[in-house]
Order: sequence, then structure tokens, then C-alpha cells
Amino acid sequence: MGRVKGSRRAVGSESAEETPGRGSSAESTPRIARRIRYYGDPVLRIPARKVTAVTPALLSLVQEMLETLAQADGLGLAAQQVGETVAVAVLNLGGFEDLDEDEPLVLLNPEIAEEEGSQTDEEGCLSFPGLYLNLTRPERIIVKGEKLVGEKMAPVEIEARGLFARALCHEIDHLAGRLIIDKLSPFARVRALTQWRLKLAEALGDSNQE
Ligand code: ZN
Repeated sequence: MGRVKGSRRAVGSESAEETPGRGSSAESTPRIARRIRYYGDPVLRIPARKVTAVTPALLSLVQEMLETLAQADGLGLAAQQVGETVAVAVLNLGGFEDLDEDEPLVLLNPEIAEEEGSQTDEEGCLSFPGLYLNLTRPERIIVKGEKLVGEKMAPVEIEARGLFARALCHEIDHLAGRLIIDKLSPFARVRALTQWRLKLAEALGDSNQE
């Protein structure tokens, strides 16, 4: 999930130097950020398959997703957003003021087990740069899945509220191939996409001449 303009800034998450589970040899082993896939890329619509084992490829993917999330200064990222269709999501907990953890959260196979109440607020997405939609999400959820602890999978159950609940819902939607615009009515979706494309064209200088 992208940060919403003017929203609460992360406390203490400014450092791009976060290298969870790694030593501090950032110069000698640069981690590679992946290219973020934007709306229109078909991979965003493919539901993720479950993670059944922690493999070297999975660990590399997680590291690359964490790097990509940090570079994009986002709140959360799902595997499809870097072109992979496996049920992995990373969240930058430093972006949630109600949580004092600094370590990013790596979730495998997350699913919403319970939800309650509702909240409506602006929401952005790294795959739709510049698009912000007012979306309604549950106020409180319980998510079950697995967490990556070192190089092992461990069952996890998370209770989340507010922005944290919103971000988890957003990433869990991605893993199912669902995007923020799906939550709009068909009319509102066309309007939002049209405005977004115009905005993008302007941002790119709109210099195409045929
Ligand atoms: Zn997103």
C-alpha cells in the first residue's frame, strides 16, 4: 500500500538502511530492488499460490520485496507488485503509529479470519502512483497465516485496527488479484481511472506527438 499524502509520517522509519536479519555490510552486498508493476500489468490479476516451504528463492524474493518497499517508501507490498505470484506480503510497521515495532513484517499466506466494524479513509497503492481513493475497510480484523522468522515459517495470528487493518486488507486483496479500483462502482472506476491517466500523462510532461 502506498502512503497517503499528508498522512502521518512514520516515526523512526526514515532510514533506508534497514536490513532485517542481515549484518551491516550494506556497501558490500547491495540488495536489489525490483521494478514495481503498475496497473495494466496482467500479473497484478493473478491470484497467488500458497507458500509451502521456505526456499532460497523465497528468501531472495522477501529481501528484494523489503528493499523495494523501502525504496518506494511504502506501507506494504504484495508479491504480484514485483511480478511474482506467490502469497508473500511485506509491511513496514514503522509506518503505523499505533505499533512501536521497527522491523518490517513478512507475511506468508495471510487470510482474514475475522472482521468487524468499518472505516472509510483515503488509500493509495504503489501500483497506481498518484491515485488516492476513499475506501471503506473493516475497522478491526484478525489475520491468520505464517510469519517468516529467520528462515522458518511460523503460524501467526494478528489483530489489527485502523491503518494497520487497512494495509493488511489491501495486501491480502493484492494476493487474491484484487485491486483498489475493484471496490468502486463501474462508473466511479472509469472516472477514477480516466482522472488517474490524465494525471499521469501530465506528470510525464504529456509530450507525445503523433
Ligand atoms: Zn497496492
